Amino acid sequence: MPDGETTGQGRTLRSARALREAGLLRPDAEAAVAAVEGRYAVSVTAHVAGLIDAADPADPVGLQYIPDGSELVTAPGESDDPTADGPFTPVVGVVHRYPDRALLKPLLACPVYCRFCFRREAVGPDGGVLSEAELDAAIDWFARTPAVREAILTGGDPFMLSARRLGGILARLGALEHIETLRVHTRVPVAAPDRVDAGLVRALREAGKPVVVAVHANHAREFSGEAVAALARLADAGVGLLGQSVLLRGVNDSVGALEGLFRAMLRARVKPYYLHALDAAPGTARFAVPDAEGVGLVKALRGRVPGWAIPTFVRESPGGGGKKLVEG
Ligand SMILES: *Cc1c(COP(=O)(O)O)cnc(C)c1O
Ligand code: SF4
Repeated sequence: MPDGETTGQGRTLRSARALREAGLLRPDAEAAVAAVEGRYAVSVTAHVAGLIDAADPADPVGLQYIPDGSELVTAPGESDDPTADGPFTPVVGVVHRYPDRALLKPLLACPVYCRFCFRREAVGPDGGVLSEAELDAAIDWFARTPAVREAILTGGDPFMLSARRLGGILARLGALEHIETLRVHTRVPVAAPDRVDAGLVRALREAGKPVVVAVHANHAREFSGEAVAALARLADAGVGLLGQSVLLRGVNDSVGALEGLFRAMLRARVKPYYLHALDAAPGTARFAVPDAEGVGLVKALRGRVPGWAIPTFVRESPGGGGKKLVEG
């Protein structure tokens, strides 16, 4: 894997060395981060690098993406598959936990790799693209499962597919009579907004069923001018926009940071949908916020922001029981 590659937006940083050369990693931290890079994927797009204040080691955007040596330490209770997708996988690439909706993971690559990712043992630039045969089998599973009324593309990040391939998958799912809505979970609009181009927008518009895009963002600063413009292209095309965030120590664990985040979403026509409690994936303990503290933060928003700015605070049940309200 090269240290960096040139895209329309400039060089994507994919190693400790590239991060250090870009001024985003102190030289004395490079060796520890190089060890992490051998185990977990690293990627910071030029767009995201431009949002990080390199002089601030506590920068709320940088903390999400700059690796830390502590990631190689697995704390008690952390698990390789914290959401227990494994037992709910009827065919490769599908996760079916609720009767009426199921996930399709067409690939496991992302534009950026979040240090707190719950699928960190699975995601990465090299793996997880479904073969044609696997994709056919997965779509056939949806065709044979009429109780499923929503197909949810996730991964990895489905917006990393070419517009043609994404459009093909959405159109095949959208053509199934029992599929009523299509959803795509993505970080691309805030991490690599130039990818939200005319071809991608057309793929969503031609899906044949209503499409909702759930955007993952954790701090107001991720809503740059380019990101807001990318979201506007989606909204203008009739795509519904939801916001998904993770409550993260140091990133958004204050009433002010959460208010800023959710207000930034409203300005970008994004309805805050879920605030997730951190899933206990290996090496993520530095981001943990106790449930009681999280509940207090969400309560403090009530009355302070419009009601529709407040997401539901949920946690994935370990063992695969699905999302549950966090209630202190
Ligand atoms: C989160 C999740 C969904 C979607 O749940 P919603 O509450 O509808 O957002 C669907 N399937 C699986 C397996 C999930 O983990
Ligand atoms: S974008 Fe999502 S799947 Fe990809 S690394 Fe971040 S949290 Fe994980």
